[in-house]
Amino acid sequence: MRVHNFGAGPCTLPADVLEEARDEMLDFAGAGMSVVEMSHRSDEYDAVHAETLRLTRTVSGCPDDFDILFVQVGAMLQFGMIPMNLAGADPVGYLVTGAWGKGAFEDAALVANAYPAWDGSSEGFRRMPDPGEIEIRDATRYLHITTNETIGGIRMVEFPDVGVPLVGDMSSEYLARPIDWDRYDLVYGGVQKNLAPAGMAVVFIRREVTERTPQTLPKYLRYDWHAKTDSLGNTPPMFPIYIMGKVLARIEAGGGVEALEAASARKAGLIYDVIDESGGFYTNPVAPDCRSHMNVVFTLGTLDLESRFLSGAEERRMIGLKGHRSVGGCRASLYAALSEESAAALAAYMREFAADNRDS
Ligand SMILES: *Cc1c(COP(=O)(O)O)cnc(C)c1O
Repeated sequence: MRVHNFGAGPCTLPADVLEEARDEMLDFAGAGMSVVEMSHRSDEYDAVHAETLRLTRTVSGCPDDFDILFVQVGAMLQFGMIPMNLAGADPVGYLVTGAWGKGAFEDAALVANAYPAWDGSSEGFRRMPDPGEIEIRDATRYLHITTNETIGGIRMVEFPDVGVPLVGDMSSEYLARPIDWDRYDLVYGGVQKNLAPAGMAVVFIRREVTERTPQTLPKYLRYDWHAKTDSLGNTPPMFPIYIMGKVLARIEAGGGVEALEAASARKAGLIYDVIDESGGFYTNPVAPDCRSHMNVVFTLGTLDLESRFLSGAEERRMIGLKGHRSVGGCRASLYAALSEESAAALAAYMREFAADNRDS
């Protein structure tokens, strides 16, 4: 029996995708082998790769003047690749909105002239900045934003319009909200939160930006090389690409990004309602208008209550609810493939636990 998986990443995946992959594991499409055993130059794999690329474009609504790249590793390699490819000698601004925004800034500062355009660390990363608080310096090449901070549980409701192109890390809400392509030069994210097993990032990059890639970088770090080769310049991460194709086909059939966005809001709403109606039994530290739809963080009054809450959850096959080691507390991640039934089951358990323990 499957668990209710509230883990922050890697994520739960649709059961029917896993079943289909299982059925194809010994013999994919009559090839007599699985997708992960075949040549990445074979016709069979080529069709898988092309179909995942096609679905990535249609589901995301990505315009034709953007390239779509599948780059190994995950979001963190992009922390370095982006400034190496885009910044040159120009200043680049970063919103330090949480652990990930800070990580992106720190890596950029090693290879480029990066500065914090806003820093929420002194406030404990409980909110995103208002547009008027973002300070953009002259000649800034781009502003880097983290649209959903996975650890702090905060989300940016509007992508800021600050007069310079945006670069967005959308890892933890990837394709679960529409993207204002006009504002962006580059959008990226690791696929292991909403879309696929770990092992790669999807990078959307404006083609005129791809064309300005510095030729002084090693090949794998160059966006134009990935674009020119359709992400087949070396052995691609075939397993995540294969599974992501199946996940995207389900997202498309289920109503696409808009439907996912609405479902995420509903699932998160179930948990926030319990928190808000608990009379302080559960607390969420985030500014109400910045509450994440993907990662709901909350604390209970004492560590003892918290550990009893977590073990009771495990008895009910609800796993992955412990908060990030850097902040403690609890966190329910409600990624794309987590069902509304799972979110409702957690909400019911939270109500029951609060009722049983209110006076202890
Ligand atoms: C998980 C996460 C990352 C790190 O992704 P990896 O693919 O593990 O490198 C970066 N940014 C955000 C917002 C994340 O949620």
